[in-house]
Amino acid sequence: MFHGNSGSSNGHYRVGQQREGRPRRGRGGTGGGFRASHYSQQSQERSPVPPCTEYDKAYFQAYSDIGIHEEMIKDHVRTSTYRAAIMRYQDSIAGKVVMDVGCGTGILAIFCALAGARRVYAIDASDIAFQASEIVKSNNLADKIIVLHGRVEDVNVEEMVDVIISEWMGYLLLYETMLPSVIFARDKWLKPGGLIMPSHATLYMAPVTHSVRYRESIDFWRDVYGIDMTAMLSLAKQCAFEEPCVETISGENVMTWPSAVMRVDCYAVLAEELESITAKYKFISMLQAPLHGFAFWFDVEFDGPQNVPSNDEHIHTLGASSEIILHPNNKNKKRLKSNEAIVLSTAPEDDPTHWQQTIIYFYDPIEVKQDQIIQGSITLSQSKENARFLNIRLEYSSGGRSFVKETVMR
Ligand code: SAH
Repeated sequence: MFHGNSGSSNGHYRVGQQREGRPRRGRGGTGGGFRASHYSQQSQERSPVPPCTEYDKAYFQAYSDIGIHEEMIKDHVRTSTYRAAIMRYQDSIAGKVVMDVGCGTGILAIFCALAGARRVYAIDASDIAFQASEIVKSNNLADKIIVLHGRVEDVNVEEMVDVIISEWMGYLLLYETMLPSVIFARDKWLKPGGLIMPSHATLYMAPVTHSVRYRESIDFWRDVYGIDMTAMLSLAKQCAFEEPCVETISGENVMTWPSAVMRVDCYAVLAEELESITAKYKFISMLQAPLHGFAFWFDVEFDGPQNVPSNDEHIHTLGASSEIILHPNNKNKKRLKSNEAIVLSTAPEDDPTHWQQTIIYFYDPIEVKQDQIIQGSITLSQSKENARFLNIRLEYSSGGRSFVKETVMR
């Protein structure tokens, strides 16, 4: 959820830093078996309440800024897809009890109340909860929506809920580490058979070529008003490409079909599984072009409460050592999902969202021929320094050369 470039070389927000834009969260997992555990089993062993760290306080503080909420709400793809999903599942919401985990301004809670929810617990640890409470009152919904100012891990609600709704997704899906809070709420407050919105999330990656970007940020220094500034090259590469970049690319930058890094079933995933995720990938370039890095994006699906399995066999395996190639005839991921599912996509070929795409650039491009194999692995893990940061380890090889890039999304 953010744009803008002040305060950071690549334009992405840093937790605790005063700037416009949405903080983004991170965590990784051991991968594999995301579907293995079932909700009813998990609820027997409830996780202990995690402490609220100084980093968490800074994170919630960042969400008291209006800019973040304005950007999220103005993201029409995001907000209208949530509203469409609420209307699609109106039968499961009307007359029922809903929990909005991280309600922000209260917009999703209000959509649910307008869809007929009997009661909505709208919870946010940020001071934006004060505005949410006023908004609820001025829309005459105070009899239905109870705004609670606090962490979902700490608040007490009077009853179990039928529906959990949350907009928890960060850059690279996991940055910002909000999903564990949804998992916590699910295990503590969701009735068996309840509905979780969204129900599934998938993180994708693909090799990208982006000569324009490389030229503007790097090659630019070779000739500046006729002056040789190549002495700037290594600094330019470091400043431009050391960290993941949040920016919009187009389908033309993508060199072949994407690979699914992980798929999360929100009914079953455990917080521990998100601590470190490793996935292998293998691409066959469809283009002869310089490979500048890898792009990442995600989508989330709103399936019904019955947890309808995806009809895409390729992306059932999660996390560790999953190797998934989406074949050309399966290219349109919207078609891979169940017919029933509403999908919020942040893919380059779809309408842009405030998440844009996240690109991990190499310092130097690799010349790739058509049909050349690009393979390796990606590890996303929760930073020990700050659980909301994401450590990224990218191993890649092509044309007989191998590389490793390690970076942190902070
Ligand atoms: N639902 C709103 C806001 C989404 S942004 C919308 O769709 O517009 C995520 C919100 O979740 C932020 O306001 C943040 O403060 C809140 N949040 C994140 N983790 C939380 C937690 N553990 N407990 C309570 N609120 C949380």
